[in-house]
Amino acid sequence: MTGSLLVDNIGELVTNAPDGPGALGVRRNAALLVEDGLVAWVGPARDAPAADRRIDAGQAAVLPGFVDSHAHLVFAGDRAAEFAARMAGEPYTGGGIRTTVGATRAASDDELRDTVRRLRGEALRQGTTTIEIKSGYGLTVADEARSLRIAGEFSEDTTFLGAHVVPGEYADRPDDYVGLVCGPMLAAAAPYARWIDVFCERGAFDVDHARAILACGQAVGLGVRVHANQLGPGPGVRLGVELGAASVDHCTHLTDADVDALAATRVDCMCAEGGHTATVATLLPGAEFSTRSPYPDARRLLDAGVTVALATDCNPGSSYTSSMPFCVALAVREMRMTPAEAVWAATAGGAAALRRTDVGRLTPGARADLMILDAPSHLHLAYRPGVPLIRQVLHNGVPQ
Ligand SMILES: [Zn+2]
Repeated sequence: MTGSLLVDNIGELVTNAPDGPGALGVRRNAALLVEDGLVAWVGPARDAPAADRRIDAGQAAVLPGFVDSHAHLVFAGDRAAEFAARMAGEPYTGGGIRTTVGATRAASDDELRDTVRRLRGEALRQGTTTIEIKSGYGLTVADEARSLRIAGEFSEDTTFLGAHVVPGEYADRPDDYVGLVCGPMLAAAAPYARWIDVFCERGAFDVDHARAILACGQAVGLGVRVHANQLGPGPGVRLGVELGAASVDHCTHLTDADVDALAATRVDCMCAEGGHTATVATLLPGAEFSTRSPYPDARRLLDAGVTVALATDCNPGSSYTSSMPFCVALAVREMRMTPAEAVWAATAGGAAALRRTDVGRLTPGARADLMILDAPSHLHLAYRPGVPLIRQVLHNGVPQ
């Protein structure tokens, strides 16, 4: 679609402008002009320029589209029975990942593609305009490469997670599996991936294996992210900091040394929020919800000056939700975040976790990725949990 589009009569516009008034850069009675898929102008509605088309927001709130920086969408089958067993008292260990690996290997490309398309659509309808997609349920050279190839049809931010778990056929020789991941699997996956990730956890990959795999990925130009400190305390967060990871994800069990290490990655800037940490702590409250586990302490991280992102961790085992509004509500209710902090973390925070400056904000030059709420304020996302409040989504300036 060509031509200009004016989103007019916005009651509350969340821009996340770094130099804007308040944490979210909120403007009242605003308008926003879209040209060529980008935000071309933002200002008071009374000063709005002429445009080819116009959307009347009706004094509703308009926010940047959510940036979901952690999702596992390429898989087959579901694990509803495992969820039911967990809710009946069985603990979560991560071992169920192998169930999904078996189903994924047996699925056709079209079956995998249909699942990604369905979940991508589901997320978009809930306001998510950017979503990172990981591999990690193939765990063979061919299955990891095709998972990433399919992921790349739906996202620019694809992540090679060949080191999700050690697959059953390598159970008694994990060193050999690490060799496979760093060798032929990485070679096949890298052309389709922007990032590399490792599940660094007891029962998955220890710190030496994780460091070796992430270093191999870095050597071929992939950015680093780490699944860290989800099930218990461990070295994952500090490994991520050591390697300059864009994000360490989960961060449920942190020591003071972990928090200090994250805070020490702070990069100061002249902007209103005073800078950010080069390594973002990405919190995934859907996983704690779905495994009935204690939530991470976002307040502790924020008070230490650590940049926090919120993401869904959408996957069939431990967090089968694609809903960023649900994660925002959980973060406010269960993780001691304010509504403004949670909305920022789910938009600009996710962009920081993906090291992107073109999304997560509504400032001139950014992508025109936005949502119009059926509500007057961003507060309603947490204040009215479970209610479908996303009235309309624009992706690259195009109404969805
Ligand atoms: Zn994950």
